[in-house]
Amino acid sequence: MKLRVDDITAEAREISFAEPEGEINRTLARGPVTEYRLDRLIQVDFSYYKAGTELFLTGEVDAKTTACCARCAEEFKAERRRAFRYVLTPKSIGYDGDAEQRSDDLEFSIYEGEDVDLTPLIREQVLLALTDRPLCREDCRGLCPQCGANLNESRCACRSEAFDPRFAVLRTLKVGRP
Ligand SMILES: [Zn+2]
Ligand SMILES: [Zn+2]
Repeated sequence: MKLRVDDITAEAREISFAEPEGEINRTLARGPVTEYRLDRLIQVDFSYYKAGTELFLTGEVDAKTTACCARCAEEFKAERRRAFRYVLTPKSIGYDGDAEQRSDDLEFSIYEGEDVDLTPLIREQVLLALTDRPLCREDCRGLCPQCGANLNESRCACRSEAFDPRFAVLRTLKVGRP
């Protein structure tokens, strides 16, 4: 998806489009985040305007994925949305490198020529939206480390409190105490 720089004015306009998912799926397959696979086109909604020579983009990406649960390894449908804000500066001027002005949810980029290619920005946002460890549900019990049973579906005969990550955290806390 590209925007013509000449079409971007001081008056904010809104746009919605669907970005193909194929390239992102190839990136995901290479890792390090291999738990997600996009099921279909990425929905992108945003508004854009120009102030001086800078372009401002504000919007959201919406990715429908199949994810592999980090605890039980079952696949499930996961939707991930991520809001983004970009400021794009002409390449001839370059970034304002002042770190004080940077914040977590504001991204800086550059543009050059007559078009702004949004595809790299959208891919970046989708990849950022897919960095959490996917869980099929908050209280997924995972797999028994001893027999491999899916503990969401059945109880096994093994005794394994050690596998619960909350117990693991408690244990490391205790180790550090006098
Ligand atoms: Zn699970
Ligand atoms: Zn077991």
